[in-house]
Amino acid sequence: MESFTGLEISPRKVDYLKFLLKNNETTRTTDISSELNVDPSTITKTLADLASQGYVDHVPYRGVRLTEKGKEYAQFLIHRHNILSLLLTHYGLSAEESCREVTRFEAYISKDAIEKICASMGHPTVSACGKISHGSCMIGDHPL
Ligand SMILES: [Zn+2]
Ligand SMILES: [Zn+2]
Repeated sequence: MESFTGLEISPRKVDYLKFLLKNNETTRTTDISSELNVDPSTITKTLADLASQGYVDHVPYRGVRLTEKGKEYAQFLIHRHNILSLLLTHYGLSAEESCREVTRFEAYISKDAIEKICASMGHPTVSACGKISHGSCMIGDHPL
């Protein structure tokens, strides 16, 4: 995949891609609407943006699904969320607090920073928010 900085998409779109990955199949606008509390006309516009950026494909009459690029990007988004969440739990926040706080700022932390934090933590495998995989984690000559 082409390289990316982790800062390509807005916080709102981060939520969309994470949800689409979690949903793991063709997702209807109504599913997104109930999960993210957004009205359908806004969703249609956001999905059109994500499609023009190559992250999702429209499936006629059925909804949208992630492209390969979208999947890889969403995996990075989950990785970033989990690493930051783990970081905050190390500094006294509960699992629930960490998850909530991270959701407020995660979209502003670059992939480069996440890889450094992940490496300094020894590439941990579990966080309060779930298992951590390191597919998107490449430090120097040491892919993990
Ligand atoms: Zn979380
Ligand atoms: Zn890692």
